[in-house]
Amino acid sequence: MWRMLESRRIMTQTSAIVENLERVRERIARAAGRAGRLAEEITIVAVSKTFPAEAIRAAHEAGLRHFGENRVQEFEAKRAKLTGLDATWHFIGHLQSNKVRRAVHLFDRIDSVDSWTLASKLDQAAAEEKRRLPVLIEVHLGNETTKSGVAEMDAAALTEGISLLPHLELRGLMAIPPYFENSELARPYFRRLRELRDELSVQVGCPLPVLSMGMSHDFDVAIEEGATETRLGTILFGSRR
Ligand SMILES: *Cc1c(COP(=O)(O)O)cnc(C)c1O
Repeated sequence: MWRMLESRRIMTQTSAIVENLERVRERIARAAGRAGRLAEEITIVAVSKTFPAEAIRAAHEAGLRHFGENRVQEFEAKRAKLTGLDATWHFIGHLQSNKVRRAVHLFDRIDSVDSWTLASKLDQAAAEEKRRLPVLIEVHLGNETTKSGVAEMDAAALTEGISLLPHLELRGLMAIPPYFENSELARPYFRRLRELRDELSVQVGCPLPVLSMGMSHDFDVAIEEGATETRLGTILFGSRR
């Protein structure tokens, strides 16, 4: 009985996410089209923070395969209920040193590396797990409201440093621009991240294919500016709290 109710609940949740996802995919396709890109070049990272494991299952059912979480402890509890689910788990929050090992154990990729201290701890933890850990560098693009991300002027040194760590695989950059009511105003920030990626890639001599940028309120603009991944929470799952 419980299982039946439970599966019905997941079905209802799934149909809501399916509808949301359909609209999001249309917008992604249109934004990609405006920039002469293909919709297939863009990966949705479904930001499931604060939502229960069942919501992740529903989203998976709807076809999503990448999930972003920002708290190690919260995800640890959910992960236990999601064994066997074929998905890629992204850590997108601020990672405290004392949680590095658990994060490396739980997540497939760390999208928010913002210091050399964190990078070397991640490298060490990945070595202990005998794996090569994909990471993104989070860049601070003059956003006064958040303190996360490496300053633009320090990004080159961090990129070079990480590229030398044997157990980290640097895949690209991530950023959270300031919030604007009018998403058009975020465009210069997205553009800057793309240019910075191009510069660093030449400077360090390694491809940095991933540009993780854009959230529910500004992903269209981010995609026009070259996002290869966009992190969507509210627009897929509904509002948090
Ligand atoms: C919460 C969060 C998101 C998703 O935000 P929405 O506005 O709900 O789409 C994306 N990126 C990061 C880093 C987040 O913490």
